[in-house]
Amino acid sequence: MYNLCSVSDRLRIFNGGLRFVPDWKKGISTVEEISEMQDVLFLLRDASISDCKDTWFWGEEAKGTYSVALMKSMIREEEEVRRDFCMRWESWIPIKVNIFVWRTEMDRIPTRMALSRRRLNVGDSSCTLCGIGDEEVMHLFTGCVFSFGVWSIVGQWCNIIPIMAFDFKDLLRIHESVTGGKWAKKVIRGIVMVTCWAIWKSRNDKVFRGTTPKVAEVVAMVKSCSFLWLKNRTKFANIVWKDWVKNPLYML
Ligand SMILES: [Zn+2]
Repeated sequence: MYNLCSVSDRLRIFNGGLRFVPDWKKGISTVEEISEMQDVLFLLRDASISDCKDTWFWGEEAKGTYSVALMKSMIREEEEVRRDFCMRWESWIPIKVNIFVWRTEMDRIPTRMALSRRRLNVGDSSCTLCGIGDEEVMHLFTGCVFSFGVWSIVGQWCNIIPIMAFDFKDLLRIHESVTGGKWAKKVIRGIVMVTCWAIWKSRNDKVFRGTTPKVAEVVAMVKSCSFLWLKNRTKFANIVWKDWVKNPLYML
């Protein structure tokens, strides 16, 4: 992408509608790039252009002029909106997993349905993991037969049976019913987040590498990654695999 391009270099009118012409040096391929592209298309969905010269414009206010007071009130409003979100940062799991869960709660991961809503041609919009139902956040993580298999085993392991989750926010609240203090809740919350991430990773492995997703492999990844992160990123450096794999709260 060039730094000194004008809006008209990148936004063109085709058949009366606007089209984004990115002109990348290489095509987009990673999940992050697809997500960012999705965000750009989302932001441009209601854009219109004229034949005027490009100018800077502060879009949050009618006059188009920027002020610090306006920015402050915008941040305050944003905080109000954010209160509706259940996602809380979990310190013992890596940033990439936290960010993934945060994006998922906002419905900002490139599921087939999300891509097709952004008018990207995805062909088949059915779930990559089970083939039944449309591939969207709610289905992938709570309604999917494959994910149900994963949650059943993870739930049994964590002694939370049954896992009652009808949408993604329910998953982010599972830890609230866990007894045993702050760390019991933190460990379970982290394991739920790692499970969501592992389900998505397995979905991506099928899409991008053609592998066959297996419930047992997703569960194995949840256990091994959680163990590694818990051992290396918390005070529980002495946890032992053979005990932990039987009960993830054994050390409390
Ligand atoms: Zn499914």
